[in-house]
Amino acid sequence: MLPVKLYNSLGRRLEELEPLESGHVRLYTCGPTVYDRVHIGNLRTFVFEDLLRRTLRFFGYRVTQAMNLTDVEDKIIAAAISAGVDIGDFTRPHVESFFEDLSALRIEPVEHYPRATAHIDEMIAMIEQLLEAGYAYQADDSVFFRIAADADYGKLSGIDVEQVRRGERVQSDEYAKEDARDFVLWKGAKEGEPEWASPWGPGRPGWHIECSAMSQKYLGATFDIHCGGVDNLFPHHENEIAQSESANGRPLARYWLHSEHLTVDGEKMSKSLGNCHTLGDLQDRGLPVRAIRYLLISVHYRQQLDFTFAKVAEAERALKRIDDMRFRLAHEPERADDAVPVEAGAAAFEEAFASALADDLNTSAALGAVFRFVHEVNGMIDRGLPAGARARVEGALQRANQVLGVLDAEAWTGDAGSAPEAGDGGLSDAEVEKLVRARSEARAARDFAAADQLREELAGAGVVVEDTPDGSRWKRS
Ligand code: AMP
Ligand code: ZN
Repeated sequence: MLPVKLYNSLGRRLEELEPLESGHVRLYTCGPTVYDRVHIGNLRTFVFEDLLRRTLRFFGYRVTQAMNLTDVEDKIIAAAISAGVDIGDFTRPHVESFFEDLSALRIEPVEHYPRATAHIDEMIAMIEQLLEAGYAYQADDSVFFRIAADADYGKLSGIDVEQVRRGERVQSDEYAKEDARDFVLWKGAKEGEPEWASPWGPGRPGWHIECSAMSQKYLGATFDIHCGGVDNLFPHHENEIAQSESANGRPLARYWLHSEHLTVDGEKMSKSLGNCHTLGDLQDRGLPVRAIRYLLISVHYRQQLDFTFAKVAEAERALKRIDDMRFRLAHEPERADDAVPVEAGAAAFEEAFASALADDLNTSAALGAVFRFVHEVNGMIDRGLPAGARARVEGALQRANQVLGVLDAEAWTGDAGSAPEAGDGGLSDAEVEKLVRARSEARAARDFAAADQLREELAGAGVVVEDTPDGSRWKRS
């Protein structure tokens, strides 16, 4: 098995993955705060995590993954109160739309989706442990984590704790913290807010403790990989490490992976700029989800991705190049006997594809390998398809698709925007005949570049050409 290298934010370097248990990766991914429909920035992170999961499985690992749902939190409570409903009713539609978005984007379901509100007991137990060991203290009816007691606080983000003390000032007058840097583990209830009983009186958990308690329950005190978007790195992940490692006396996760943000037209996504797109907004504009997934995976996860409509159109064109080749491949009879060029090309593609992924999920290089292969196969079809070529090429593409999830046009039928429009391109039958004839002549003259160009021109007008031993046939797609 090819060794998989991943960039570990903890230590900031590429490291070879060595799971705690051979062949089995335990993975925790911070899920959404369900106070609204998730936006495509969130979805970029979830697609990256899906890519990681699929890559691990591609390399033969079994994966046990947990993604939490933060269904109690200040923004949720405020929004539920102003809507006059309880938080369960408030979050329900957002949980539903979250799962709809995941499935629309072909994000594989994971093993566990724990919800914060169903794990309050586990959170209380961990807070009690921290209190007993002196890592936490009660102030009024709340409980705080004592950063001064945690010698290696800041090891993930490299944050200078003294700087935090000076820079942050005492921003929460409402709570009586010992130290401005300390963060809340349990918040005493306020009038009209949802509350749970605890040894410190009614209240609710802080955000960070949710992930510490739930990751431990589903993956154990130490697991392999912890992921999130870069904004999660500090303070959320730093605080998860502080809580879990102080409570358990052992490392929380061995590899920390963070995906960069998605921006829109060069700007940060924000409601006030009106550029905070959800998947639903994009579907309403007729953009195919398949092209959106393609765009999201085409840029390396540690690079910012600027979302533009032009890039979605580019993604559609890229997918069409693959679809066109596969259509040709499916309809082209195999004639030449020599299977060697197929085997060599397919094996080279498989090797390039796998080593790109093993190199910290280098999807742009992996897609580069796909397109080189597509180009090669088109050339092979032009020259005469060798025996066994179809099955070999299809097999290689299907294996690659286990990771990419976008190669199979048929699996995406019904996806907004994917249906070809009637009359697209507007070529009359006579014009089509003329182009098909010109293409056959180019092929006969072995001018494959010209033949290719004509085929693409026809494909652009929604016309598909099939080459049979009796000559070329065409039909509108
Ligand atoms: P939240 O619901 O805010 O907790 O976010 C859920 C996930 O989306 C987290 O992993 C965040 O780091 C990630 N995220 C939030 N905004 C963006 C963005 N603009 N681009 C990429 N990921 C994001
Ligand atoms: Zn988390």
